[in-house]
Amino acid sequence: MPHWAYYPYHLFWQLVDGLFPPQCVGCGQRGARWCPACQQQVEPLPPAPLCARCGYPLATEQTACPVCAHGPGQWAFDQARAWAWYRGMTRRVLLALKYGRNLALGETLARRVAAWARGLPWPKGCMVPVPLAPARLKARGYNQVALVARPLAWLLEMPYCPDALSRRDGPSQVGMQWAQRWANVRRAFRAVARLVRGRVVWLVDDVMTTGATLHAAARALKQAGAHAVYALTWARVPRHAPGRTPVPPPTLAISRS
Ligand SMILES: [Zn+2]
Ligand SMILES: [Zn+2]
Repeated sequence: MPHWAYYPYHLFWQLVDGLFPPQCVGCGQRGARWCPACQQQVEPLPPAPLCARCGYPLATEQTACPVCAHGPGQWAFDQARAWAWYRGMTRRVLLALKYGRNLALGETLARRVAAWARGLPWPKGCMVPVPLAPARLKARGYNQVALVARPLAWLLEMPYCPDALSRRDGPSQVGMQWAQRWANVRRAFRAVARLVRGRVVWLVDDVMTTGATLHAAARALKQAGAHAVYALTWARVPRHAPGRTPVPPPTLAISRS
């Protein structure tokens, strides 16, 4: 049962759909934001076996992926899990949400993610979206993560705490080496102790690539006293082409200090 506040929110978007009939983000068909046939094209991550820590799918029944096995216990988040692979239809939907100003898609995606997230074994906590830096937020006008996280928190009946984490403006990461990128993101987040101390936090973001952003944000939350931080993303970028051994990101090596 969703929180009651979900219903007026849902109704609002139904009215918007009534006034401005949507077109499917996948096939362009009129009448649906994201038609059932196109939703079928999402490729969810397999439920098992997954790396116990970062949630990356494993080829065999091990407990840790090569990246986590290389440096166990170094992630600041307790566990990370993702709903689908970041490719094909999922990538198209997330890009439409992020750059295409397709705001109503947030609710549609939240319903799909909620159906999956209900099966996660994590204790409930407050939901904290990874924030945008102020300059980026001003330029885009909205945080694409919050568009999904807000209804998701209602659907899962969890408190929503967007003010728990803030992100500073920083130089563009374009052209930076890996270590520089890490240093850049590491200083980027600040958590509000009053809102997270002693609490379980579900840290949510749209896409997990190397995990550097989630790690940095989780680190700030832990430093502010969060009891546990679970990282949930709508999508996960495949690490490597078949047959290639993944290399641990430098983020992990640097995070030891
Ligand atoms: Zn479609
Ligand atoms: Zn792992």
